[in-house]
Amino acid sequence: MSPTPDPRHLTPDEIELWAQGLLPAARDVHIGECAECRVAAERERKLLRELAQLTRFAPEFGFVERVMAKVKIPAPSGPHLRPDSDA
Ligand SMILES: [Zn+2]
Repeated sequence: MSPTPDPRHLTPDEIELWAQGLLPAARDVHIGECAECRVAAERERKLLRELAQLTRFAPEFGFVERVMAKVKIPAPSGPHLRPDSDA
């Protein structure tokens, strides 16, 4: 039994899912039939592939950790540290 094609265009979220191979079959059919969505989806997949390569060829160990450290949001409790009663 083949899924019923869905006439709606894919949302950006769905295109991302498709690029990750996670799009439900019913929506996957739409990509096969809609050139517009296929172009958008291929573009997204290419982008993901390039990102994956960047990650794989990251020059230094700990690259992700350093990036995450830069974007780290200060803990809300930080400025309000009070003396620990156990200390
Ligand atoms: Zn479409």
